Amino acid sequence: MNAVYHFSDGVEDRDVLGNKGANLVTMAKLGLRVPPGFVVSISAYREHQQTGQLPLAQIRGALELLEQRTGKVLGQGLAVSVRSSAPVSMPGMMDTVLDVRDFDHVVSCIKTVFQSWDNPRAIEYRRLNRIPPDLGTAAVIQAMVFGDQDERSGTGVMFTRDPSTGEKGLFGEYLSQAKGEDLVSGRRTPQPLSSLAEQMPGVYAELEEVASILEKHFRDMQDVEFTVESGRLYVLQTRSGKRGGRAAVKIAVDMTKEGLISEEDALLRVSAEDVRALLHRRIDSPESYQPVARGLAAAPGAATGIVVFDPQDAVAAMRRNERVILVRPETSPDDIQGIAAAVGVLTSRGGLTSHAAIVTRAMGRPCICGAEEVRIDLQRQRFEAGGVTVARGDTITIDGSTGHIYLGALPLTEAEGTPELAELLTRADAARKLGVWANADTAEAVVLARRFGAQGIGLCRTERQFNAPDRLSAIREFLLAEDSGQRAKALEQLRRLQKEDFLAVFRELDGMPVIVRLLDLPLHEFLPPEGEITEPALRERVRELKETNPMLGHRGVRLAITYPEIYQMQIDAIAEAQAEVGANVAIMVPQVITVQELLWVRRMLRDRDLKVGVMMETVRACMRAGRLALVAGFFSFGTNDLTQAVYSFSREDAEKKFLNTYLEAGVLRDNPFQVLDVEGVGRLMETAISWARKEKPRLEIGVCGEHAGEPQSIRFFHDVGVDYVSCSPFRIPVARLAAAQAAIEARRREAERGAPTAVRPAA
Ligand code: PEP
Ligand code: MG
Repeated sequence: MNAVYHFSDGVEDRDVLGNKGANLVTMAKLGLRVPPGFVVSISAYREHQQTGQLPLAQIRGALELLEQRTGKVLGQGLAVSVRSSAPVSMPGMMDTVLDVRDFDHVVSCIKTVFQSWDNPRAIEYRRLNRIPPDLGTAAVIQAMVFGDQDERSGTGVMFTRDPSTGEKGLFGEYLSQAKGEDLVSGRRTPQPLSSLAEQMPGVYAELEEVASILEKHFRDMQDVEFTVESGRLYVLQTRSGKRGGRAAVKIAVDMTKEGLISEEDALLRVSAEDVRALLHRRIDSPESYQPVARGLAAAPGAATGIVVFDPQDAVAAMRRNERVILVRPETSPDDIQGIAAAVGVLTSRGGLTSHAAIVTRAMGRPCICGAEEVRIDLQRQRFEAGGVTVARGDTITIDGSTGHIYLGALPLTEAEGTPELAELLTRADAARKLGVWANADTAEAVVLARRFGAQGIGLCRTERQFNAPDRLSAIREFLLAEDSGQRAKALEQLRRLQKEDFLAVFRELDGMPVIVRLLDLPLHEFLPPEGEITEPALRERVRELKETNPMLGHRGVRLAITYPEIYQMQIDAIAEAQAEVGANVAIMVPQVITVQELLWVRRMLRDRDLKVGVMMETVRACMRAGRLALVAGFFSFGTNDLTQAVYSFSREDAEKKFLNTYLEAGVLRDNPFQVLDVEGVGRLMETAISWARKEKPRLEIGVCGEHAGEPQSIRFFHDVGVDYVSCSPFRIPVARLAAAQAAIEARRREAERGAPTAVRPAA
């Protein structure tokens, strides 16, 4: 078996040589000056892992050839470096040995490098970056060149473009009379690369040439290590350079203009994280500040404000135009107004899918969750972290993109989308098939949705409108009314208020369609806590409405059957507002299980011409999808509730109690409330879609749960023929990009297979 390859052999296969090895071969082929060397392949790694043996004869032969090529003898003028080379770059995770001068030592170093594939750091890195643990690594053995030879020597790192702005041009550092480790270890402070232009203009010009050759070949920004030995430039390594979001977008767009990559490639190169990072406020040079504590980066962006511990305080502060950060052990639905009033939220408990995390992400507010180092004393209104005490009224800054918590007000930079992002998203719109709509409950949210490029409002939840104090008191009056007169009066007031809400939303649509969902919350959530009620009759009524399992209880369309007046009131308010503004409005019915419920609600329309659709969020609705399709104007999958239903557990309980343990133990790979469970929930959706389209091929189908803004899930929705996703306005840019990527990838898969496959399930 051939287990050893010289750079000059010209084999460029990444699966054989790993990334670094393959790139060295390529550079040698491109005519760049690369110190000679060879690669002990990944199959040799596998063999070594199984038998403990290395291909000693081949290694000896390769070293002899290296001696011939360099005209030097190992140990007498010739030394080699031994480095890892995995198929996927894992910078700094495995071992490197330099200055190796005899055969036995070379062999022991290859073993060390192979074994370092399984060091804890590398294992953790692979877990975080989803790199398969069985890929393995090759080892690169290369003649050393010396950057500390004389004053015309040195070592440096060059990026072919600026990794934070994406600006074209050499960017990097150079250290005169130094070895690579001196640069990496930070023992000496390097000079900007431009210093080399003055010291050795010829070498600098050569570097510019190298950058151009490498970019043309790899068609990507490169991160290059080089050494200058007595005025001669050697290129030691090249790889695709890591970059920030802003740079990623600019580089992708610029490279299409330079003719290096296609528009499709540019769309595939930019990740959801890149776009997210671009669209949120951030701390100006965060490296200059020391955080006092750290938690989970739950909702991106940075915010500065004074600390409050009570949601009511947050609301009061907002009315005084103060910016506050709400600090709580955790949040609950009762805190929603406090969260909305705060510029940021910090919790000491809860994970990335806790209530606080989900709500703040939807609102586009920065949030840090599960900051266990932050010890909150609610009684005394203060917290302790990193040895300092922060009291109510003190100012802090939180960075929800990193999870860092700082004392004081740090300078923040505004979220500025870049012109390149706008350009990229316009191309995404042309490439995608999926529509991208927004979930928006208020006029302000509709404006935001339009600004981010929404094509419609796929979910306007009406229960949130009831949170405002005047509405809350009206619905309480209705629920607690003692006679029908009182009840009718309360309803009439609600209808007027709701009509105002709808008018405000409809007026901002500017031609976009909107889907208004009828009330879905369990009624008891509108009532004051039992303990706060002194009047015995009222307390009894509250007790009656209380539920054991609200998630599976008296909610959604069930209310239409038990309290028809509420849905009737909502439908009337919607219809009146629609008639006044002339908007394109449809009504969505939540929690449907049977076609009878839909017919029941349709009767409430009283011949008004409004489209009525089903929110597909119960298992039974999916199993009856064919029959429902015949009656429904459209479907929209509520994947939040559908996931709960398929898993038979409630999101809140799961996330509080056991989901993290499941994820840590690897029993579940992803949180199914964040990333759609394709094999379970997805299979059910696919089945429902195919049954529905069998009855009504052109039935419009959307998705409006949290998954609608999640890139992996969006790929799946594209593949099963969903028409549009509807997500929070802040996630729209990511959704536009992900939808384009899904379309491009699907087209490429089809092209590879040679025959087109149906995007929509067969009718
Ligand atoms: C859903 O269930 O997916 C949904 C969007 O509705 P809600 O989150 O309001 O229950
Ligand atoms: Mg729902």
